[in-house]
Formats: sequence, C-alpha cells, structure tokens
Amino acid sequence: MVQPYCASEQRYLADRYVEGTCPHCAFDGARGDQCDNCGRTLDPKDLQGMTCRICGGTPEFRETEHFFLKLSAFEDQLLDWVRKQDHWRPNVRNFTIGYLEGGLHDRAITRDIEWGVPIPLDGYEDKRLYVWFEAVIGYLSASIEWAHNNGTPEAWKPFWEDGSRAYYFMGKDNIPFHTVIWPAMLLGYGGLNLPYDVPANEYLNLEGFKLSTSRNWAVWLPDYLDRYEPDPLRYVIAANLPETSDSDFSWREYVRRNNDELVATYGNLVHRVLSMVSRNFDSVLPDPGELDEVSGALLAEAQRRFDETEAYLEAVRLRQALQSSMALAQTANRYLDQKEPWRAVRSDKADAAQTLWTAVSVINCLKTTLYPFLPFSSQKLHTMLG
Ligand SMILES: [Zn+2]
Ligand SMILES: [Zn+2]
Repeated sequence: MVQPYCASEQRYLADRYVEGTCPHCAFDGARGDQCDNCGRTLDPKDLQGMTCRICGGTPEFRETEHFFLKLSAFEDQLLDWVRKQDHWRPNVRNFTIGYLEGGLHDRAITRDIEWGVPIPLDGYEDKRLYVWFEAVIGYLSASIEWAHNNGTPEAWKPFWEDGSRAYYFMGKDNIPFHTVIWPAMLLGYGGLNLPYDVPANEYLNLEGFKLSTSRNWAVWLPDYLDRYEPDPLRYVIAANLPETSDSDFSWREYVRRNNDELVATYGNLVHRVLSMVSRNFDSVLPDPGELDEVSGALLAEAQRRFDETEAYLEAVRLRQALQSSMALAQTANRYLDQKEPWRAVRSDKADAAQTLWTAVSVINCLKTTLYPFLPFSSQKLHTMLG
C-alpha cells in the first residue's frame, strides 16, 4: 500500500499527522483517519490538499507493506445485525446503517511507527499495530487481565460468552469503531458477544462553545470539587445530557437547577418531612394506620415511578430516568401541601402520622431511584433514614 511520507522529516506520517479537506463534507480540518465534522472514517489518500501537521509541507506517498483487516467480508453480516437493533438510539443506528450501505473497504491495521503494540511476527519489528485497531481489543484483554489478576482466570467468560449485555458508552465521534470495526473483529474471531447497545452521546458544549482542554475551556474537576459538592454537577449534567442532540452546560443553568430543582423540590421535601418526624414523633417513624385514598395513591405512584426508572435506566434513557424521580418528588410535595401535616399534628395526630409515614416511604424510594445520579446525597439520606 502507499502511506504518506514526509521527505523533510524522513518519516512515514501516522494518520493523525496529516490534515486536509474531507471528500464527503468538505470540512478542511479532517485528519488522515477521520473527519471530526461528519464522523466518517478516512484514509490519508482520501484527503484533498493534504499537509504534514509537523512541518506544514506536502507529504508524498511511498509504498510500504502492511497488514489489513478484511472489513469488506463483514458488510452483509453487519448490516443484518444492525438493522435488528431496534433498541439503539436512532442517531447511532441510522449513522451505522448509512455507513455500511456506503460500503466497507479493507483497512490497514499496522503503521510504520516506533510506538505502540508490536506485531507478533518475525520480520516486522519496525511496524506497530495501529491504535484504532488495537484500542478496542482493550475491552476484551482488560477483562481477561482482570480475571487473571484476581486469581480467577475464567471469570471474564460470563461477560463475553454467555449473551451478557455489553453497553459501550462514548461520544458520537467514536460510533463507527464500536458499531462496525469492533463488531467485525468479534465476528471474525467468533464466539464472543457483540455489543448489546452503543448509547453514544452527541456533544456537550460549555457556555455555548466547544469544550477544549488545550484552550482551557473546560470545567476542571479538582477546581470544581474545591468549591462545591459532586452531586449538583452530576445532577445538572444528567438532566442536560446530549442524548439525542448537542446540549450546553452553563453556570447560570447550574445555579438554577440546583436552587429550583435539587434544593426547592427534593431537598425541601426531605428536610420538611424528616424534621417533622424528628420534632413531633421523637425521630421514630409512626404507625400509619389504615391508608386513606390519597396516601394509597401516592404509594402506588411511587411504585410506578420506581419500575419506570428501572426501565429507563436499562434503555439508557438517563434524562427520562431522572425526570421520573423529580416528578415523583413534586407529587410528594403537592401531597404534603394537601394533607398539611404541620397543622394536623395539633388537630389529628393519627392523620399527621400517616402523612409522614407515607412521605418517608416515598423519600426512601427516591433515595434508591436517585442513587445513580446523586450517590453521595443518597448515601447520607440512607444513613439518616436508619
Ligand atoms: Zn467530513
Ligand atoms: Zn513534515
């Protein structure tokens, strides 16, 4: 095959060291392996107006010998498989089908570079497996290494051989590596589970601009954690996840969601119920007696929301899972406003007891459904509830 070669540096250029115009979308910052604008994987020879990213010169192409992954052999099998994945996010499934319908070309999996995983064959000491090929194997090899290190060398197998459901979390620029290339490698090897779901996210921007660590346009977690608790950030990001389209993180939205939702809706519910139990019932949950209609209805609603959250989490609809819990917290607040236990505690203590017992049951449910989003607060609440 031919590979880009920079005469001034006297070296072959790895895909990321060449840049040019994408032949599919005309984006002019496409790299030799992928276009960040349209997400398509590329070969260096596809680029128009290719330049060397090290010296800015124009590379030449030289002949060199490489190993290939015969991707073309998997085209039909992959299309059959992807078309059946009705539970995938539409953007992931549609992107993959379009990608496969465009035809698969065999791709070189080695490069003339000094770093990386060596080729386990004599005579190829100056070549390496290229990163897009070997990185995804890490999912499997890390499982096997983990099993070995634990003294249970077979323990990786249930995750890979018995129809376990493997979820691959990533950003949208990584979709083809996990819905085409890695599945092709798994099919070629045989006997291992293909991905069950690839819930790739779109992009999250920061205050209207693309995040960039090199330009310091980022929220650095150590800085954040010096000032604030982890849970509000987890909450705001989960509530605003770019599951189906790009979304934006802003500090104004952080403050609003923390104050109006976490504190006003959830925190307030927990605070007023637990302090009433503490003040009026000596911190012992009172006997509820026979539940009236509105208390029974609230408990049934909690059970429904609990089941719904489980289904949403399994389907990786995380925003909806979170919304479901917050809606339950709102319902519980309305229940308290209707039942007015702070008044009933003086006029009808049994009714106040039932209201608080029911509200604590709902809080106990929320503690569980919100645990994936607010693990630190949930643990604190769990301790408070005894
Ligand atoms: Zn493009
Ligand atoms: Zn150069």
